[in-house]
Amino acid sequence: MLMEKERNLVVEYGKKLITENLTDGTGGNISIYDPETGLMAISPSGMDYFKIQPEDIVIMNLDGEIVDGDRKPSSEKDLHIEMYKAKPGMTAAVHTHAMFCTTLACMGTPIYSVHYVLADAATDVVPVTPYVTYGTKELALAATETIGEGKATLLANHGFISIGKDINDAFGIARECEWVAQIQWRTMCVGKPNILDREEMERVMVKFQSYGQVKAKK
Ligand code: 13P
Ligand code: ZN
Repeated sequence: MLMEKERNLVVEYGKKLITENLTDGTGGNISIYDPETGLMAISPSGMDYFKIQPEDIVIMNLDGEIVDGDRKPSSEKDLHIEMYKAKPGMTAAVHTHAMFCTTLACMGTPIYSVHYVLADAATDVVPVTPYVTYGTKELALAATETIGEGKATLLANHGFISIGKDINDAFGIARECEWVAQIQWRTMCVGKPNILDREEMERVMVKFQSYGQVKAKK
């Protein structure tokens, strides 16, 4: 089966979108890209994440042609395709309708560095892509323009998308951004959050490169 490993990961992380409260119903979508073959494995459109099987995942090239699969691909295929074209080195994209990211997106408010973990998204501010109808090439182009140097953008009146060096990275950014968006929303409810400056966020970005067991020696 073409891209079997990637298909299994799209199925697994699709379920995590629901279990980790990062989307609602069939909202959101996930893809994994293989730069060697130029092929992308993407979730099918409008299917229950707990019913999706590996054979339901659609394999496409970056020209938007279906290479393998009987299902209709995600309506946001262009959003995923344009991200891979614009961001060499990125091999996964996670689009969500997460509650707090979407709340800010509906206000046209970016996610600011109210907490240092936002550095995970390789930026000190997650910008808002202006509203464009879902599932259009125009939305894809607007989002890739807005995302800039970072790895995430809110989508006005819609949701959120992150990209990553692998699916664990892209999904982790989606989770961290949702957490920071919630903290920002909560602090805004009771006052004015203190925002970390760009210099400090750059320091954290450097520290994150060796966070955890990355460089642990035995
Ligand atoms: P799909 O089910 O077609 O992937 O669409 C969900 C979505 O979030 C559209 O923006
Ligand atoms: Zn969506």
